[in-house]
Amino acid sequence: MKLLSDFDGVWTFPAAEGTAHGAALDAALLALLPTETDAARDWIGAARWAVRQEPMRWGWSVAGRLSAFGDEDPFTEHGAVLHYLALQAERDPLAARLVAAIEAKGQSIEGFGGDAHVAGVKQVESTRGPGITEAAADAGRRMLAGGIEIVVVSNSGTEKLQRWFEHARVPAVVHPTQVDGQLRLRGSAKKFVLGPSPGKQIMVGDLSIDVARPFYTQVLDEEAPDAVVGDVLSLDLSLPLHLKRTQVAWKHVRLFWLMHPYTPERMKREVAKLAPGEVEMVEGGLAGVAERLLAR
Ligand SMILES: [Mg+2]
Repeated sequence: MKLLSDFDGVWTFPAAEGTAHGAALDAALLALLPTETDAARDWIGAARWAVRQEPMRWGWSVAGRLSAFGDEDPFTEHGAVLHYLALQAERDPLAARLVAAIEAKGQSIEGFGGDAHVAGVKQVESTRGPGITEAAADAGRRMLAGGIEIVVVSNSGTEKLQRWFEHARVPAVVHPTQVDGQLRLRGSAKKFVLGPSPGKQIMVGDLSIDVARPFYTQVLDEEAPDAVVGDVLSLDLSLPLHLKRTQVAWKHVRLFWLMHPYTPERMKREVAKLAPGEVEMVEGGLAGVAERLLAR
């Protein structure tokens, strides 16, 4: 049994990281226009309000398409703010000045957002320490002891994954090294990266999700897992679901979607409409997955 696992929101509960990421992004945006801070602050407030009204429209945008909806986890709203910024720049002079200031630093909007994410997480880590929960670490050790192979495939960097698992005393090695009884880590996996337009949409209930994810496709092909767990349907589970629907080898692969307080109700309703067993909605975090996989 091989479990392919996401990291943030599976091994951690990233509320503090999400808040700090947002604060770092807002501060970085304000710093772009030092002579009109009040106007920029108002603009940010209005942008956050706008993206919250329409999470299906504004989200983590890649190549002009949505890689995740704006409400899927504590980080995606901040991506949505930048998605909104990029489009508003065509009609809103203040947004245009923000984008021009980002470009004047030699940065892309995506890179600017990535820096805010890293800064926010670093700030939380410096005060609280690494954030793997005791319950997830226990569940991980139990699954490893039960003979389950676990590969962690995350957009977070490998170095962060190593440091956080070491702190949580969960044994781990970096891919391609493989050791029985230890996690294998594949960081910077770029699951969010979408291929060239028009992409490929699948329907999950009434949700349309882009599964043209070249980097994630390659990892899933290489790993051929028996189960996949994630907290963000679009990033972690939509492509595995597409494979499960279309490829014989994937027919029996189990897909676990972790239910958190931040999991959008609107998405839960759509997933609940799927055929039984397509996507398993799991309460209780990674421990809930361990319970299902270790049950005899
Ligand atoms: Mg996640």
